[in-house]
Amino acid sequence: MKSLYFKFAVTTISIMLLSGLISFLLSNYYYQINLKQKNDEKISNFASEVSHYINHHDEIDLTKYLEHIGLLGYQIYIVDEQGETQFFGSAYRDKDLPASIVDKVLNGDTYHGVKHFPHNLFVTGFFANELKNTIGVPFEFEGKDYALFIRPDIKLFFNEMHLLFAFMLALTIALSIVLVLISTKYLIRPISKLNSATKDIANGNFTISLDITRKDEIGDLAASFDDMTKKLAKVEEMRKELISNISHDIQSPLSNMRGYVNLLDASSAEERSHYIEILNTEINRLSSLTKQMLLLSTIESKKEIMEVKEFDLGDQLKKVISQYQWQLSEKGIMVSYSSSNVMIKGDPSLLYTVWENLLTNAIKYNHEYGEIEIAAQEKDSSVLVSMKDTGIGLEPNQVKRIYDRFYRGDHSRTPSVDGTGLGLSIVQSVVEMHSGEISVESVEGKGTVFYVSLPKL
Ligand code: ADP
Repeated sequence: MKSLYFKFAVTTISIMLLSGLISFLLSNYYYQINLKQKNDEKISNFASEVSHYINHHDEIDLTKYLEHIGLLGYQIYIVDEQGETQFFGSAYRDKDLPASIVDKVLNGDTYHGVKHFPHNLFVTGFFANELKNTIGVPFEFEGKDYALFIRPDIKLFFNEMHLLFAFMLALTIALSIVLVLISTKYLIRPISKLNSATKDIANGNFTISLDITRKDEIGDLAASFDDMTKKLAKVEEMRKELISNISHDIQSPLSNMRGYVNLLDASSAEERSHYIEILNTEINRLSSLTKQMLLLSTIESKKEIMEVKEFDLGDQLKKVISQYQWQLSEKGIMVSYSSSNVMIKGDPSLLYTVWENLLTNAIKYNHEYGEIEIAAQEKDSSVLVSMKDTGIGLEPNQVKRIYDRFYRGDHSRTPSVDGTGLGLSIVQSVVEMHSGEISVESVEGKGTVFYVSLPKL
């Protein structure tokens, strides 16, 4: 597998080379369609001036004159009517020129070799050092006809500068390649870090620190990754805690039961009925624990499939109270209930669980002959249900933990209170599913009030 670094560097360098090639082709095309014509005209004008000058100055030393022009930066080729040739200025690379062209110029025509130089994809006509790529003009000297072919000496023209240009170009290319390699490394480094962090997480190591502080998309990704890691670490911690809680809560009644079952054989009838009663209590506890665990997991998966309908909350609260009437009167607890008929939208069976849990807690953690006040008040856009008891209350540090799964208060003072520590977690989850809020006010030894606020419709 090729690394991202390799791919990125190769892609960028290829883009640079490709853009260089495309710019060359485009500028070549521009030369062909625009500059070639102008270049031809310029050189033609110069050639005509040279020929005009020679035509009118028979007294000059032709060789010296043409050498001089050669020195000025032109490549010159002359042919006289006897076919004698001479070159001035620097040499042509390709000296091939059809005799017919020479004859035509000797006969008075002008040859436009620059304009008609063939179009070539990778050769810029401007630089083609060929005799065909010249302007040919006739002239007469000392009664003899000549053909003169001339083109600017590009090498001479560029001689001073071309080393500098070549150096600049080479330096630009080398520098860009080095910079691309460095910047790519800088760009790719956080991705490599994220990659190895992902592997760490997959191996269960959540204590990674990415140390990426960039303010771009990769920085954002790293921040989200950090967030995700923290959440995963928390979930993992909760999972471990949950498993240890579940195993403890299932294991202890089971070992209790095993102990009493073993005692059954060798015990009197009276003892046996006592043990069976204990066994029954443990069985009930296990059964309600599994039911509540099942309910919690259903709630979690049920978020999308809540069966929402409009129903009368007042009626539902009354039903819950009457269901627990027997337990209330057994403990001698007085219940007062005040509500008008309030319609709300929600999942009736899940909300029933909420009131049921709050009411059973208000009974369980209440004193004998205590009181419970239940009220449902309609607000602008919500309904506020309060459940107040005159029970044992909560210590301030307990209040923070009561919604944690398996959290149970210290019931050393009320050892008979049975529970799983799941009830309020269920209540909180259901209230949140309904976009509602739950809060609690409690005074130790005096009592507790739970407030549940639900959006009306
Ligand atoms: P459980 O009642 O099964 O122990 P819950 O999740 O319903 O579990 O409650 C968690 C803890 O919160 C209880 O163990 C208890 O200590 C405390 N608690 C809940 N409701 C009340 C209340 N009305 N009065 C006093 N303490 C309460």
